[in-house]
Amino acid sequence: MNIKAKELSKIYGSGENKVVALDKADLEIHQGDFISIMGPSGSGKSTLLHLLSGLDHPTSGSLTYDGKNIYEMNDKELSAFRRQRIGFIFQQFNLLPVLTAQENIAMPMLLDKKQPDREYLEELAKLLGISKRLTHLPHELSGGQQQRVAIARALIAKPDIIFADEPTGNLDSKSGGEVMEMLGNIREKMGKTLAIITHDARIACMADRQFVIMDGIITEKGRDIRL
Ligand code: ADP
Ligand code: MG
Repeated sequence: MNIKAKELSKIYGSGENKVVALDKADLEIHQGDFISIMGPSGSGKSTLLHLLSGLDHPTSGSLTYDGKNIYEMNDKELSAFRRQRIGFIFQQFNLLPVLTAQENIAMPMLLDKKQPDREYLEELAKLLGISKRLTHLPHELSGGQQQRVAIARALIAKPDIIFADEPTGNLDSKSGGEVMEMLGNIREKMGKTLAIITHDARIACMADRQFVIMDGIITEKGRDIRL
């Protein structure tokens, strides 16, 4: 799947309160790419990821998935598209506290009125080292385990692309390292596209293409894409 953002902008507020969170971002992501995005706090990283994944709408600009402008879909179509084609991993895990690990993982399928593929769920759990934790509630799991459950949830519908917004930001360096290693292995094994925001230069360096964002302006390292 080919993703193309053209002059994507997001402006919050107006007048004195106006914030240009993202300024005419041009970006193309190809099937199988592993890209990283670095930038200081408040530079527009989350805004960019939310726009690229259809979680939010831009003030102007377009975004196409295989030539189809996803912002032209209605809310229902876009939600279904997101559930089936896009996986999203949040810094705060965002697991539902009253559901067990396996119920959390299955949730995107249930929302689509589909049954999760049991074998695939077990394979994911094994790859992520959470097989023995599937019947536990989130509060019975460590931070690293919770994030691994969230990764399985992002993958259960077999999406083409995974977006991750500082997935190791709430973890100590050991669990963060484990989470990244598993994410990297799964990406390679399953040939997924991965776009990850990080503060960690070591993680950014693992990517094939590295982007930096400053004051809402994105540039690709080693290439001046604004020329
Ligand atoms: P990052 O993820 O790099 O820390 P964000 O994308 O969250 O940055 O934010 C970029 C800028 O947009 C910041 O100045 C932030 O304060 C502003 N911003 C983000 N969301 C909103 C919002 N809902 N309303 C107003 N300003 C916002
Ligand atoms: Mg952010």
